Amino acid sequence: MQPFIKPYQYNFIRNQIELLTQQLATVHDPDVRDAVVYSATKKIFDLIPVLSPEQEELLMLIRTHSSEHHLLSYLDQLRPFIEPFPDITEAELRRLFPKTKKLHLPPMETIDFSATTYLSWNDTGNKKKFFVYRLGDSWLGLESTYLPSIKQGICSVCKTYNDVTLISIRSKPTAEHYRAVGNYMCIDGDHCNASITDTADLEKFLTNAK
Ligand SMILES: [Zn+2]
Repeated sequence: MQPFIKPYQYNFIRNQIELLTQQLATVHDPDVRDAVVYSATKKIFDLIPVLSPEQEELLMLIRTHSSEHHLLSYLDQLRPFIEPFPDITEAELRRLFPKTKKLHLPPMETIDFSATTYLSWNDTGNKKKFFVYRLGDSWLGLESTYLPSIKQGICSVCKTYNDVTLISIRSKPTAEHYRAVGNYMCIDGDHCNASITDTADLEKFLTNAK
């Protein structure tokens, strides 16, 4: 079976499993236990709607795990089926930012691509943050600037409480003016990638500024 679970979907499943583990620790009535497992299963199946019989069988294993230990092993069983961030070479990355002089590239060899929904890295000297994302069949590459004042808050992309700052992407100029699209977001792309469970707001941010 080919990998089919996107990294952000894996995060979603992991969150459901954590919640389910907490619920099962306090609920002893068999019917209620069935109901909470059913609810978690349904959310996971809603997340990945089109499944082959093998994929469905794999995800359905959740129904046979009802202890904390088993639920953690369920996550391990899914891990080989994570579809990593698509391959991209350094030359391709450079082509995405033709106007950026002295582009600092991310440390490709240390990135965990199975935990990467969007590629992002900071140029701390110039207070710039770069985004690379695969949208359909094409690559998006966007350069943003960020405010140096980092504060605690909710990230607009991963929706968790983290170190965030205002990140602005200047869009292509229209006839009259430039338009900047700003969002409070995690300053640390690894943290954000570890927490993101939905790509809608990320895509909106990146495509609005395009
Ligand atoms: Zn975030």
